[in-house]
Amino acid sequence: MPEKLGKMIVGVDLGGSKINAILSDSSGNIKKQDLRDSRAHEGPDAVIKRIIESIKQVATRADIAGIGIGAAGACDVATGVITLSPNLPGWYNIPLKDIIQREFDLPVYLENDATAAALGEHCFGGGVGIDNLIYICVGTGIGGGILIDGQLYHGASGSAGEIGHMTIDINGPRCPCGNSGCWETLASGTALAREAVKRIEAGARTSILNFADGQLEKVSAHRVYLATREGDRLANELISQTAHYLGVGLVNIVNIFNPQLILIGGGLSRMGQLLLEPATKVVRERAYKLPARAVRIELARLGADAEALGAAALVLESS
Ligand SMILES: [Zn+2]
Repeated sequence: MPEKLGKMIVGVDLGGSKINAILSDSSGNIKKQDLRDSRAHEGPDAVIKRIIESIKQVATRADIAGIGIGAAGACDVATGVITLSPNLPGWYNIPLKDIIQREFDLPVYLENDATAAALGEHCFGGGVGIDNLIYICVGTGIGGGILIDGQLYHGASGSAGEIGHMTIDINGPRCPCGNSGCWETLASGTALAREAVKRIEAGARTSILNFADGQLEKVSAHRVYLATREGDRLANELISQTAHYLGVGLVNIVNIFNPQLILIGGGLSRMGQLLLEPATKVVRERAYKLPARAVRIELARLGADAEALGAAALVLESS
């Protein structure tokens, strides 16, 4: 819509721990930002109040074309309803689009957060000009957004892109989804930290605990990463293992979607090539040759604002 191009847009990333609201121009330049805790345990009404407060902090101008929301859960995009969210307790069939629309009298668009991030990277980040791309967020869990022929893919129930729950090892660790051996039980930050704790408890020699104030419960993926920079052998071994499992999941994605580009974002992507190189090697070795040759696997560019920028881009993409 040409008339939208000169206007400002609001993007909101609604996650289990944070709400990130931004005011952006139509080129993805962030002009204002409000970041606050979502305090999801307080339930939908309290969280919705905080979303509205957060939008009010950034939507201070008259020339706003609309509001986009990327939410951590399954969304019915057509009706703007969050149908179910494992990260937002109590959110069943919440008509968030209507609620926000009534409050601000602006067009509102709702999308799953990782799917929004795929659009954000496509419009403003590493995926500009690429119509077949998969965005993967590797953090506490693993989420994904799928862009096929320039269109976001939602699936029959709006839950497409739950790639973190593809089975990698049928005998693997239990997953919060009820299955076992899901990708995110083997290749997420949570999985990396869990393995580190297991090995330390078993008596492995490592400096990882020095980066965690000597406390097992403070061992995190980031702290394992810090230990690799001191040459810690166990830390390096654990990250190699995580990268290997990351690569195995990527093989499946490459074989199914034949994407031009896979962008890796989320907290673990801060490890950069330490994670990406071995994962890419697995893809080169194991994926079907034709799509393996076609795909580039890169770090996402928009960082922690990918979801909010993608949510804002929903306003631009809508007709
Ligand atoms: Zn699972």
